Amino acid sequence: MLEMQEKNTTEQKPVIGYVHSIETFGSVDGPGVRFVAFLQGCRMRCEFCHNPDTWNIGVGTEMTADALLEQAVKYKAFWGKKGGITVSGGESLLQIDFIIDLFKKAKALGINTCLDTCGQPFTYKEPFFSRFKELMAYTDVSLVDIKHINPYEHKKLTGWTNENILAMIQYMSDNGHHMWIRHVLVPERTDYDDYLAQLGAYIKTIKTVDKVEVLPYHTMGVSKYENLGINYPLKGIEPPTQERVQNAEKLLDTKAYTGYKN
Ligand code: SF4
Repeated sequence: MLEMQEKNTTEQKPVIGYVHSIETFGSVDGPGVRFVAFLQGCRMRCEFCHNPDTWNIGVGTEMTADALLEQAVKYKAFWGKKGGITVSGGESLLQIDFIIDLFKKAKALGINTCLDTCGQPFTYKEPFFSRFKELMAYTDVSLVDIKHINPYEHKKLTGWTNENILAMIQYMSDNGHHMWIRHVLVPERTDYDDYLAQLGAYIKTIKTVDKVEVLPYHTMGVSKYENLGINYPLKGIEPPTQERVQNAEKLLDTKAYTGYKN
C-alpha cells in the first residue's frame, strides 16, 4: 500500500496542451506535407492577424502529446521524406513544455519536427532559456516570423518590441538551428523599401536561413473580428499588388535561399 502511494506521488502528470485546431494535410507550414497543430494563445496583437480566435490563453481543446501524436501518425504515409509534424499557433512557444514532450516523442519515432513561432516569449532568463535549448534539440526546422525589422514600428504593429525576437534568431544562428524566415507584407505598415532593405540586410547576417518567404497581407480574417466584436485595425487597407510582392521578394533576396526546398 505504502509502495503504491509512493509510486503515485512520484509519477509525473502528462503535460496538457491547449489546441486551437488541427490541419491534417498542411502544405505551407514547413517542408513537404505536414500534420499541423495550431496551439491556442498569443500575447501579440498584430494588426494584420487573421486568427484573433487563437489569442485567448488557457482555453481550447486539452490534449496530451501522446494523444496528438496518435492522431498525427495516422497520416505518416503521406509525409514522404520531407514532411512531418508542425506546431503553430497562436504563439506556440507559450506552451513550450507541451511541445518539448511532443517533439521528443516524435523524434523517437523518426518524425520530422517543425516549430512555427513569432518568438515573442523568448528570453535568456530561466527557466525559459533551458527549456528553449531543450526544444531546439528536438526541432528540425523553425518557421520564424519577423513582423517588422524596426523595433519602434514592431511595437506599433504588434504591441511588443522585437528585440528578444531578434535575440532568439541570433541564438539559433549561432547554434546551428535551421529556420525559414517569413515576413507579412502589409501596405502602409511593412511595405516600405527602406524597411525591406534593412530586413534583407539583417537576414544576410543570419547563418542558418534555409528559406525566406514574403506573405502578402490578406483580409480573410476580417469576419472573425466582426464575430468576436473586436475592432479591425486595418480597415480600408487592401492586399499588396503582385508588383509590390515581387519588389519585396527582390529586396529580401528570397531567390538566394534554396537550401531546403518545400
Ligand atoms: S503572433 Fe500570430 S497569432 Fe499572434 S497576433 Fe500575431 S499573427 Fe496573430
